[in-house]
Amino acid sequence: TRPQTHAPMLWFDGALVRTDALQAPLTTHAMHYGTGVFEGIRSYATRDGAAVFRLHEHLERMRKGAELLGIDLDVSQATKATLQTLRANGHRDAYIRPLAWLGTGSIGLDVAALSQHLMVATMPNVVHLGGNHTRLTVSPWRRNPASSLPPLKLCGGYVNSILAKREAKARGFDEALFVDEDGFVVECTGANVFMVRGGWVTAVEHRDALPGITRDTMITLSGARSRPVTLGGLLEADEVFVCGTAAEVTAIKALDRREFGDNPVTRELAALYARVVRGEEPGHGAWLTSV
Ligand code: PMP
Repeated sequence: TRPQTHAPMLWFDGALVRTDALQAPLTTHAMHYGTGVFEGIRSYATRDGAAVFRLHEHLERMRKGAELLGIDLDVSQATKATLQTLRANGHRDAYIRPLAWLGTGSIGLDVAALSQHLMVATMPNVVHLGGNHTRLTVSPWRRNPASSLPPLKLCGGYVNSILAKREAKARGFDEALFVDEDGFVVECTGANVFMVRGGWVTAVEHRDALPGITRDTMITLSGARSRPVTLGGLLEADEVFVCGTAAEVTAIKALDRREFGDNPVTRELAALYARVVRGEEPGHGAWLTSV
């Protein structure tokens, strides 16, 4: 990463601007109602320069969320904005945060006439879970049901994750696990769940869970089977790991009072994922967009 001699740049409505020069009006609709959609994407340093991992899939998921709010998201424009911002900031290993939101025009709930905005920020630091010591706890909160709020990266929906995360942290855990009323595992606040038992890898499937791109990647890489899993089933697993763009592949040390061992399968899969995202594993180059 090139040393930063000025405020980082971000892409905002068509141009690169200095982050310290920006202000959003206090009547921004998204600030009042969470009417926006975002993504969490990562770029990695590879032998051939920086590359973004599965950029198209992330922006397509964002487009779906935008569509629900009536926001027109131009994926090819968002792609260019992402690459331009990474280049402007000289970031190689970076977390990329695009956000599309409803701006001003009315503070009512009919959003048809509101202004629409898009920004892309890139940051050299990624917020991790608790590394290989991650301790999970079952949340007393329920995940937003898909029938009320689709599992897309809609801003307002993340209040649900934040409540669960706050509650878990207050009890000394790193991360919360959402379980539904019937005892089925949903996901974590910002990552999907996998388990390993008798050498078989299972991707936890639930309609209220975000269809994670890392989850999809890990199914491809590990041959995991996707199926519903109960909390009881998870507690009987040999290994549990969670995965997401920020979390990558993180082994779970403990789930409430259940302690897991040294997670050999997870360690191997985490190392494989680390090679794939850096273009060090043949056959997966199509997942990388060169910066
Ligand atoms: N679930 C939730 C609630 C998330 O916020 C994330 C992070 N985007 C994930 C799962 C993992 O998704 P992905 O692998 O696409 O980053």
